[in-house]
Amino acid sequence: MFSKKRFSERLMDVPESGTVAIANLVSQLKQEGIEIISFSMGEPDFDTPDNIKQACIRSLSSGFTHYTPSTGIPELRKAIAERTVQDNKINCTAKNVLVTPTKQALFMIALAYLDPGDEVILPDPAWVSYEACIRAAGAKAVHVPTRFEDNFRMSADMMAAAITKRTKMLILNSPSNPTGSVMPRETLKGIADLCIEKDILVLSDEIYEHIIYEGEHVSIASFDGMFDRTFTISGLSKTYAMTGWRLGWMVAPEKDIAAVNKLQTHSITCCTSFTQPAAVEALKGPQTERMKMIKEFRKRRDLALDLLNDIKGVECNRPEGAFYLFPKYEHKITSEDLATYLMKEAHVAITPGRSFGPAGEGFFRLSYATSEDNIIRGIESIKKALSKL
Ligand code: PMP
Ligand code: GLU
Repeated sequence: MFSKKRFSERLMDVPESGTVAIANLVSQLKQEGIEIISFSMGEPDFDTPDNIKQACIRSLSSGFTHYTPSTGIPELRKAIAERTVQDNKINCTAKNVLVTPTKQALFMIALAYLDPGDEVILPDPAWVSYEACIRAAGAKAVHVPTRFEDNFRMSADMMAAAITKRTKMLILNSPSNPTGSVMPRETLKGIADLCIEKDILVLSDEIYEHIIYEGEHVSIASFDGMFDRTFTISGLSKTYAMTGWRLGWMVAPEKDIAAVNKLQTHSITCCTSFTQPAAVEALKGPQTERMKMIKEFRKRRDLALDLLNDIKGVECNRPEGAFYLFPKYEHKITSEDLATYLMKEAHVAITPGRSFGPAGEGFFRLSYATSEDNIIRGIESIKKALSKL
């Protein structure tokens, strides 16, 4: 028997992923034959568009099955850079692109830039993996609680109050998981100015950039003086229903791509080879399927929002992007207990608001990346179960 301390301090400080834990439980219950309507996992229920799958099959058949350059195949880096210039108004070239799964980008950036004692500003609630990566690097997350009344947006003034001498980085995520909230241009500009004034790096997670219903997506790296201090991460998972393909990217100054690529070469080496030509097809091929999915998401958002706001004691903002609703509830029960109760009583899976930070308590997250029929039946079951509390 191994008798020394088994796990690193680092690991013991990393919380479990609340989103993945619920999703795993749903799969387990389904295998046991229990039907659960799941609003838990944040992944599109659509199939990956066929033109993308066919491009992958072609690349497999042609024997494109070995290592690629660790930064990604040149055609894909170029396609990502072109789309980033066009869609995000970020002035960049292929040399500013590292092809890597989005989550891997986040993890490597945390390891490459954060030391123990460093502080990272995190608007709260925020997606679960930010805090985990900050902690894995030995750094500290400083939460800035945002309010339902402000549509969960952090202002520059709110951020300013959280800055200390140790503040090294800010993490932004617009459109947001879990709230669906989108940061307006002027708010982002105020935050950008503050980051320049206080010399703070920014990790901008823009994975939901194309799933937007109202307003515009603005990349903070597009403001003057911001490119040098911003790591923009995004990917194919959500936009093209490609979660299982594990393909995304980071856009940053060349010196930062080289630094993070060191970690890439020692961890995954490179992304899967035969999926990369398919990613080029996703970015450069017809965009009709993506547009259809967004139209469908918008319909579902409106449907789910009306049904939720019809429940006594539940209130939900109208989010402008992503595919999440983040309603608050009045019932006197913690969000974790609520998730357990709804799973048992209503056979419905939601994610507790608390998983996304202390400011998420009293809320739950509902992913509407599921059919209209599930939305109608699932929210009806939630309504019935809540009326018994
Ligand atoms: N950022 C956010 C905000 C997400 O919701 C997700 C969802 N998985 C990711 C990053 C990671 O994306 P991927 O699974 O493509 O690595
Ligand atoms: N991002 C999705 C979610 O929040 C998938 C799970 C995860 O990666 O956390 O549900």
